[in-house]
Amino acid sequence: MRRAIYPGSFDPITNGHLDVAERALRLFDEVVIAVALNEAKHPLFDMEERVALVKASIPALQGHERLRISSFDRLLVDYAREQEAVAIIRGLRAVSDFEFEFQLALMNRKLNSEIETIFLMPKDNYTYLSSRIIKEIARLGGSIEGFVPESVRLALARKFGS
Ligand code: ADP
Repeated sequence: MRRAIYPGSFDPITNGHLDVAERALRLFDEVVIAVALNEAKHPLFDMEERVALVKASIPALQGHERLRISSFDRLLVDYAREQEAVAIIRGLRAVSDFEFEFQLALMNRKLNSEIETIFLMPKDNYTYLSSRIIKEIARLGGSIEGFVPESVRLALARKFGS
């Protein structure tokens, strides 16, 4: 049984995240979407809301019965080891992601050389998508249809009162 862990803030989950999760499911027997507490990032949605939005978003994914959702607030490699994961999944959108992701992957390898980081690229129309941009558009009243699942669209509308 090969398990991979897909960590992130998921504040909120977007179709780009879901695309990466679906690709990971084709490579691994089980994928754990692990929502990081990340208080330092001052998330718009609290942990419970972020987890609930992930849960509401995954039934449409191919292979979703092999997907698990969890949350964590500790060193990622320690959490991955505890979950008996062999790989960490990260999404790569553009060159701009590369430097940070490269640094993170090498640091994680230093901390635990047994867990590989695997980078997956989303479908091209999701390469310019980020949770940050989605929140900004929603806050300013723009349309985010096609970029996020319906449950996320509604949750953002509730947050920003639109
Ligand atoms: P973090 O706070 O760790 O950056 P995010 O929730 O923003 O967490 O993202 C988690 C992972 O998903 C990261 O590897 C990020 O690059 C990736 N990701 C985010 N948006 C997209 C997207 N549109 N397409 C592909 N990967 C993405």
